[in-house]
Amino acid sequence: MGMGGGNPGGRSTDRDRDFNWQFKSTINPEDLFRKIFGDAGFRSGGFGDFDDFAESKYGFGAAQEVIMNLTFSQAARGVNKDINLNVVDTCPKCKGSRSELGYKATKCHYCNGTGMETISTGPFVMRSTCRQCHGTRVYIKYPCLECEGKGQSVQRKQVTVPVPAGVEDGQTVRMAVGTKEVFITFRVEKSKYFRRDGPDIHTDNEISIAQACLGGALRIEGVYETLNVQIRPGTSSHTLIRLNSKGLKKVNTVGYGDHYVHIKIKSPLSLNQKQRALLQAYAELEDDTPGSINGVTTKKDGTKHCYEPPFDLLQSIREALNEKEQSLIKESAESRETEDPSDKPTEPNNSDDEVEQHKKSMP
Ligand SMILES: [Zn+2]
Ligand SMILES: [Zn+2]
Repeated sequence: MGMGGGNPGGRSTDRDRDFNWQFKSTINPEDLFRKIFGDAGFRSGGFGDFDDFAESKYGFGAAQEVIMNLTFSQAARGVNKDINLNVVDTCPKCKGSRSELGYKATKCHYCNGTGMETISTGPFVMRSTCRQCHGTRVYIKYPCLECEGKGQSVQRKQVTVPVPAGVEDGQTVRMAVGTKEVFITFRVEKSKYFRRDGPDIHTDNEISIAQACLGGALRIEGVYETLNVQIRPGTSSHTLIRLNSKGLKKVNTVGYGDHYVHIKIKSPLSLNQKQRALLQAYAELEDDTPGSINGVTTKKDGTKHCYEPPFDLLQSIREALNEKEQSLIKESAESRETEDPSDKPTEPNNSDDEVEQHKKSMP
């Protein structure tokens, strides 16, 4: 089949004969190569690759990346966190001397400490890296067993990473570890309560119906401390309250972000009889209801009436309110006899306030 037959031995083809003719036919080209460059050529190459491989395998190249998981508050406040890393560092046993304890490296006698050797092959004179010391100029009779005479070794080290306050998810910092640099990327756990927008913090906070209507104060969990939030009377759901500089510490600059409080009005899931009766009485007086209220009917004269239990309790409240209103009208009329009483009882909202004041002034 000619050339396509593929002769594995390859010795008998014309091509090989052409190549080999200037040498003695018994010389293997590989042997010749070895004779010229020595075993060192093979060995050092092989070892070098192995070293690189070992280092890259464990991630000891120019940089190593480490993922560090942080809780939300660790990221917010900053933390000193320990991690265990494989690092290449000076061998702890020989302190980098590469020799076993009690022995010292001596000058390489093969190259007389030059690291180079001269090889003569026939007419050629070649300068080559010393085969004995691989160019290191020293001879180590008893290599350190710990690092196999390399002076450095792979070590499992505990490293404390000072995590700066306010780091974000995915942010990377660079840190020197041993003789190498390590890139540390933070993975920040999401918080069920805090939402983050750069240095700003958002939280949802609930207030009650009474707080929403009458106003008040709220204590909420902040990033670094408990915060006081003032609720203005008539606060609606989704009201956004900004707490200046109560957000996260800014990482690359001074100052803090803001904490935004998203107000949610929480309706009670169940009402006791008194609460129900009071709300029903209020419902009868509410004048800006968008649509209808369960159990409350608007009469022809525009007044509202609730036909739901607790009937007795509701009726008592209605009577109490009417009684107050009557006594108020009476009192006002008496105290303002000299004034014009005509504009007095037309404002029922005002009368409520005055009932309150009237009550306080009573002994
Ligand atoms: Zn060592
Ligand atoms: Zn040498």
